[in-house]
Amino acid sequence: MNMFTTEKPYIIAGPCSAESKEQLTATVDFLSKTDKVSLIRCGVWKPRTRPGGFEGMGIEALQWIAELKQRYPQARFATEVAKPEHVEQCLEYGIDTVWIGARTTGNPFSMKELCECLKGTDMNVMVKNPLTPDAKLWIGAIERLMGVGIKGLAAIHRGFCTHNYYGYRNSPLWDIPMQIKQSMPDIVLLCDPSHIGGHCSLVKNISQIALDLGFDGLMVEVHPSPQSALTDSEQQLSFADFATLLSDIIPHSAGSASAVDGELKMLREKIDEMDNELISIISQRLDIVQQIGELKMKNNLPAYQPERWKEVLETRIANAKTRHNFSLLSPDFFKNILELIHDESLRLQREMMKKGDK
Ligand code: PEP
Ligand code: MN
Repeated sequence: MNMFTTEKPYIIAGPCSAESKEQLTATVDFLSKTDKVSLIRCGVWKPRTRPGGFEGMGIEALQWIAELKQRYPQARFATEVAKPEHVEQCLEYGIDTVWIGARTTGNPFSMKELCECLKGTDMNVMVKNPLTPDAKLWIGAIERLMGVGIKGLAAIHRGFCTHNYYGYRNSPLWDIPMQIKQSMPDIVLLCDPSHIGGHCSLVKNISQIALDLGFDGLMVEVHPSPQSALTDSEQQLSFADFATLLSDIIPHSAGSASAVDGELKMLREKIDEMDNELISIISQRLDIVQQIGELKMKNNLPAYQPERWKEVLETRIANAKTRHNFSLLSPDFFKNILELIHDESLRLQREMMKKGDK
């Protein structure tokens, strides 16, 4: 039986990393009492971007989990695996579910090795999306696991590494998990709002968007003392904040009126993202305009350069004409925007020159 389909929303919670026996015990004790958490997550081997950080407690943490399973017979545990020996050790210590991390999903060589090792076991496997926004890589990893007979399967959306996603750690690009839902309707789809948001204050909002979009559940990072966590300290929820999250989130099923709200929220998120990018790009462009202003000043060149402006306008409008919606727009729309930016650039440079003269 696919364990992920038993209840909705399916809630997974726990610390980013298993750090000590005390930390893990306190978390398991608290999460068990909520009665709403189906699976406890904790990283045992941690993939770190740069060397020198906390890399997880390894086998020692597996031993704590094995002991906690005796003490809390209802509790189920999940951890991340990246190598065949991780899978073997999880099987040896009775870990219930493993997840494949974002850095591993995107590597077909690693996926093939993990699948070889998982073949013939009844391990449940969750697959995080790859770092890059590539639905095919994500689907490919899930297909490989199906191919070796894994029955308990779920996909976890943890956001993508794109440049400039203002406010969030990872860009949600919600249409990619929605593609997974469409092309693999039987796959349980979970959202990891902690890694998407990167900050505890964002977790609730992202969780609700995911549920409104028809996600089956959540994976949330929870720590007894987030400020002293050894990894991802900003995004882990305290016990009190996690209890609030559980009582505040509204489970919605896809197709209900709120799925429309969810879609609206998602589209507005995209608009917010794009507006923020526009502002950042214009502001960066004006920085360069000022650097050019300095050069013009040093070389006694006037701010307005008619030949250059003519070329800028022509090439940008030619580019705009290749866009699919150009014909729908007012004829001078892009020209007006470019003129506004150019006028402001000239004004800035002339101000600089005036000050330079004094
Ligand atoms: C994690 O869940 O602790 C983790 C490292 O996640 P990701 O693979 O999404 O970065
Ligand atoms: Mn983490």
